[in-house]
Amino acid sequence: MPDFDVVIIGSGFAGHCAALEAAAAGVRVLMVESEGAVGGSSKLSTGMMMAAGTRFQKERGIDDEPDRLFRHYVTANQWLVQPSLARRLCYDAPETLEWLSDLGVEVIDVIKSGEEDRARGHVTHGGAAIIETLSGQLNQFGNVDIALGTRVDRLVQKDGAVAGIGVGADEISAGAVIVATGGMSANHDMLDRWMPGVLDQANGPLYHQSTPWARGDAIVLAEQVGAQILSGLGSRAPAWPFGGGYLPGYMMVVNRLGRRFYNESESYSASEVAFLSQPGTLGFMVFDDASKRAMVRPSDVEPYMRILLPETDYLQQAWTSAAVDDHVALGHVFRADTIEALAQQMGLPEANLAGSVKRYNQLVDAGEDSDYLKPAEVLRPITTAPFYGVQMKLNMLALTAIGMRTDHEACVIHENSLPIPGLYAAGECVGGVLGSIYVGSGNSVANCTVFGRVAGRNAARFAMGGEA
Ligand SMILES: Cc1cc2nc3c(=O)[nH]c(=O)nc-3n(C[C@H](O)[C@H](O)[C@H](O)COP(=O)(O)OP(=O)(O)OC[C@H]3O[C@@H](n4cnc5c(N)ncnc54)[C@H](O)[C@@H]3O)c2cc1C
Repeated sequence: MPDFDVVIIGSGFAGHCAALEAAAAGVRVLMVESEGAVGGSSKLSTGMMMAAGTRFQKERGIDDEPDRLFRHYVTANQWLVQPSLARRLCYDAPETLEWLSDLGVEVIDVIKSGEEDRARGHVTHGGAAIIETLSGQLNQFGNVDIALGTRVDRLVQKDGAVAGIGVGADEISAGAVIVATGGMSANHDMLDRWMPGVLDQANGPLYHQSTPWARGDAIVLAEQVGAQILSGLGSRAPAWPFGGGYLPGYMMVVNRLGRRFYNESESYSASEVAFLSQPGTLGFMVFDDASKRAMVRPSDVEPYMRILLPETDYLQQAWTSAAVDDHVALGHVFRADTIEALAQQMGLPEANLAGSVKRYNQLVDAGEDSDYLKPAEVLRPITTAPFYGVQMKLNMLALTAIGMRTDHEACVIHENSLPIPGLYAAGECVGGVLGSIYVGSGNSVANCTVFGRVAGRNAARFAMGGEA
């Protein structure tokens, strides 16, 4: 008999959901966490979850269904995600949300972010609260052990199946193993290898918002057992020197040619793509003194940002008037009495920037952004000197979803395209569920929770003698 039926590596959303399902199936579970506390990056998360066709939407009069999200999801990803994974994600999300709600995770709102055609971002009290709830539930099971401070360095194989884990000189045998070790945002070497271009496109330092232990350990484990690795999403937002995935939408942004190129109030799903298509992957934000003076913490400014941008203190700099002054002094923000002088300072073609500002002001006067359809309520003129400009770089890495290839049952797939018996994976350490575009708000939480549960159920079944 193995030491445990199911061993789960990692204790974020994916690990916890897997552990809860395996525990509920009655098998002996060990959850192993490299750090001194459970939660990983999940604990830092805003905790918004994407789902379509939920009771929470219906209660708010939002007409939606999983298939609508599925179509949107695969189309936005140009059909480059495996449809069976996307379908499972979209179709299982409402039930998983219901399951979370039954466990005590409260849904307090449903909001729309950026490119979505329906409000699908289910707002919770945040990742720390979710982990606390899940952890509390897990502690009620008598068949679950948790090992903290234990960094798994290898998968143990027996007779062609994964049958345990290794930590230094120690080995623990298992009926099945689930890898839920999170992303690789904190490991520049891994990023360089699996997201070529990400360091150059940052045009300087690359920030990430996950924990330092998002080291991409799953890649090492995958290579040991010959698992396929899929390079997928590395979701980035434009930032510098101010933080946050959602820019103050009332600013104007131009490219190196001094021309506007997108609706500045869009979510980072859209802004990432827009920035990537611009010369040097750079944008230049322009605003006037009136806008600068009106700045308070973004959470106090635009209603649609209130929830999406709570206290983004991880970068220490929110968009406030005082912070702009600080960054003028540091040379990060440019200030000039005329648009032409500002253009000169920023190295932009003067006539182009002046023309773009003039056109923008005309749109503001007309009350309609007939170019990029930015909502009228976030249109503000650029007319009061001094004028400010700041270079925006694609240097805020929100998450990575690069890793083991799995099928829709969360089985890890070998290089020979067959499942590796006894090995399952879920969450940010999996490639192929999240595509090249971060669709909507809460894409990753949906992925972790839906596939974490699938992995937990299937690993328990396999450990009890079922099929892979
Ligand atoms: C600030 C912030 C806000 C976010 N907001 C949202 C949001 O609103 N909606 C959304 O969908 N997504 C959001 N995300 C992304 C999302 O929260 C994460 O992608 C998700 O929580 C990752 O969960 P996970 O279980 O895959 O990994 P993690 O939560 O990172 O857990 C992995 C765990 O594995 C451990 N581990 C790693 N290697 C080993 C090893 N070798 N041995 C043992 N343990 C190991 C780690 O220490 C960690 O605890 C946000 C992320 C951040 C950081």
